[in-house]
Formats: sequence, C-alpha cells, structure tokens
Amino acid sequence: MDLCKKSLPVRGKYKDIAEKKCCREDGHEGECGEFSYLSDLSTTHPRVANKIKRDATKTTGAAWKSEDAGPNRIDRWVMLQSDEVLLQYGLNMAALKPGVVAKLREKAATYDDCMEVAAKLTWLAYQMPDAPECPPTIKKYLESRFSPMVASATTCIVCKEPLSFSLFENAQRGKAEIETAHSNPREHNQTNVGFAHRECNIAQGNKTLEEFYEWISGILDRVQP
Ligand SMILES: [Zn+2]
Ligand SMILES: [Zn+2]
Repeated sequence: MDLCKKSLPVRGKYKDIAEKKCCREDGHEGECGEFSYLSDLSTTHPRVANKIKRDATKTTGAAWKSEDAGPNRIDRWVMLQSDEVLLQYGLNMAALKPGVVAKLREKAATYDDCMEVAAKLTWLAYQMPDAPECPPTIKKYLESRFSPMVASATTCIVCKEPLSFSLFENAQRGKAEIETAHSNPREHNQTNVGFAHRECNIAQGNKTLEEFYEWISGILDRVQP
C-alpha cells in the first residue's frame, strides 16, 4: 500500500533535524494525519495509544534521573545526528558516560522506521486475545500494510505465551506489565519489534532472542543434565 507521505509541519526544538509525514493511504480524502490509525485507541485506550507512539519514536523507557545520565526520552531520529550537530541543540554527548552514549546511539532509528514500528505495534495490539474490536476502516488500512489480522495471534516475542491486552492497564509502580520488545535490541524496525511481558523483556536484556535462548538452554542443561 502506498502512503500519502505529505510533509506535515514540525514544531519544537528539533524541528530542523526532524520530519513529519502523513501516514494515510495515498489519495486519501480529508485531512492528513501522522497517526490516523491510532484514532480509535486514542479515544478508547489513550494509555495504549500513547505508549505505542512513545515506544515507537522515543529513545528510552529508562528513567534516567541524574544530570550525566543523559536526555530523557528524545526522538530516536535525533540520535542519528553527529555529536557536533547535537551540541548545537544543547545535547553534549561528550559529557555523558560512554555506556549512556552507547545506549542512546543504539536506540537511534530513522523517522520512517519509527513510523512503521508504530503501525506494526497497533496491528499487533488489535490481535491480542482480549483486544477491543478494530474499526473496519482501521482494520483494512493495517491489514493492507501488514497482513490479515488473526484473533489472539499476538504472543510475547520472548516466551511465546499469548499476551493479554489488559496487561497494558496493569501497572506496578508506574511500569506496565507489557513492554515493547525487539528480537535484536540494537535494531528498531517493524520486522524486529513486538510486545513482551515486562519480566520476559527484562530477562532478555541486551541479548538478541537467539543469544537469549542459547543462554537459557545452556543453563537448563547444567541444572537438569
Ligand atoms: Zn495525507
Ligand atoms: Zn513472555
């Protein structure tokens, strides 16, 4: 499916190094929009819609509090810029600990990749066992971007158990029980992204899923030979 991709006005501090495009189908009627397919969830489940937008476009969910821990939540595409350019925006990468810089740089992704991730996460959320019904126009749109939706098909990308939509609302100390996860945590694109239980995502850590399963199976071999 071809998208409209018309440039939309960008505001804010990073407007010169950012872009914003219409994600509606090419030749659509009515206004352009960046996240039109989230219109239903934004009304019925605003927390879920905001989480999808945030996880798709922002660098981190980590609560970095100290001064040298780096900018909290920044657009992923901003992190594609060089240290020199970022310094012009008041982001002094040289002042951050190397581990923090590496983490920020790892989360970098192009605007287009972030937008594909947001659409993919929405498509996945609607396929959770107890998900709200997807309005027909949104369903048609998402299915033509990915593939036909299958009820209850969305599983945790780590443990493969079905993921309940209700976990979005279950939060402990402000942390949702469901997280956006990556088969390879160093790549942020739609083929590599999905949802996982918070515990599973934490267990996977910075390993790829392949590395993680190998690690787990090594442990199991040693504890139950
Ligand atoms: Zn448009
Ligand atoms: Zn899991």
